[in-house]
Amino acid sequence: MSKKKANSTDKQVPEVLADAQSRLEDIYQRLEVSEDARQRLSYPHRLIQFSIPVRMDDGSLQVFQGYRVQYDITRGPAKGGIRFHPDVDADEVTALSFWMAIKCAAVDLPYGGGKGGVKCDPKSLSNMELERLSRGYMRGVYDFVGPDIDIPAPDVNTNATVMGWMEDEHTLIARRQLPGVITGKPVGLGGSLGRVESTGKGALQVLNIWAEKAKKKPKKLTVAVQGFGNAGYHFARNAEAQGYQVVAVSDSKCTVYSKDGLDVDAVHDSKKDGSLKPVCRGKKEHGEVLERDDLLSLDVDVLVLAALENAVNAENVESIKAPVILEIANGPVSSKAEQVLANKDVTIIPDVIANTGGVIVSYFEWIQNRSGDYWSAEQVNERTEQRIREQAESIFELAAKEKVSLRTATYMQGIKRITDAMDSRGSQQ
Ligand code: GLU
Repeated sequence: MSKKKANSTDKQVPEVLADAQSRLEDIYQRLEVSEDARQRLSYPHRLIQFSIPVRMDDGSLQVFQGYRVQYDITRGPAKGGIRFHPDVDADEVTALSFWMAIKCAAVDLPYGGGKGGVKCDPKSLSNMELERLSRGYMRGVYDFVGPDIDIPAPDVNTNATVMGWMEDEHTLIARRQLPGVITGKPVGLGGSLGRVESTGKGALQVLNIWAEKAKKKPKKLTVAVQGFGNAGYHFARNAEAQGYQVVAVSDSKCTVYSKDGLDVDAVHDSKKDGSLKPVCRGKKEHGEVLERDDLLSLDVDVLVLAALENAVNAENVESIKAPVILEIANGPVSSKAEQVLANKDVTIIPDVIANTGGVIVSYFEWIQNRSGDYWSAEQVNERTEQRIREQAESIFELAAKEKVSLRTATYMQGIKRITDAMDSRGSQQ
């Protein structure tokens, strides 16, 4: 099947972006968005593609493709992560940058939306090769990033170490320190306390807000977590600490399951020896190892999607049994699958509010870098929680008032802010 499809104006829209944008028409109508603003939101502001030649450890040269898309810069500089993954291409990065614009606006950060990536298999690269690739990425985007232009951060398969290499490369080229050019850095290089666990903890806070409104007690809720990277792991261990029963987690290889609840840290430690082991809480005997995708159809109260986009799609949506889905990954439920789930009254707590903890703490890191005033972990946590509470509460209220899904309400909150800012900029551009 072709990856592209034509829209009504005959422009070629990448499928994943078309999927992201397909949710918009209803929102544009509800908000009475002007034709000008609709047009602007249909195209990315800037797409940069570049080659990154990397000298491999064996002396050979490999050329990787790097991307950075600045989808929207109406409310401030572009903001968003950089991922290293074999599936990265211009279409995917464009869709992800669009979501960043929505979510930065949904939680009222003074940013537009951006995203970057390198098409590569990071698991097959040595540490030195990864460092050379990361430095090459920064050389490729150097002219297009900056604290007031576009501020990258970690995403899938990138972390504080990678951000540190990129920040250092930036310093070498610029011959001055500009830590606000990138967030998610190591704490010693100007990173913020609390950034590493912020996405997982923020998602848990949004789940708690939902649980409170639905009058559900965490101790009575079973949870399965797809994806055991940084966000999935920190969500799971904090959820376990707050009394949720984390009965299953999966990574790219398998699912581990125990009906009595997993010991999340022990499962995480077990990965160091190769694959995940189903270590149960407070018990000697282990749970079960299942096929990777078996996790999606488990009969749990909350299915947490913390892997990649399109995890729940038209092909597998019928197998979903959970009545609540928490999206920590970006775009893990396709719009077609979402329609099927809506007919079954499944509640989706969408990415565009659920995973904003990361970018909110990135914003605080950027503020700290620019002011030179560094905050304690308590200050970071308190301000993050306050922002998520305020913004999520207003989304839940809007959803109830307009009788729309949480995703529609979040998009409405974000797009209203973006289009109001577009209007404020005037029409002579
Ligand atoms: N990659 C994360 C996201 O998708 C964080 C972005 C950031 O901190 O700028 O939200």
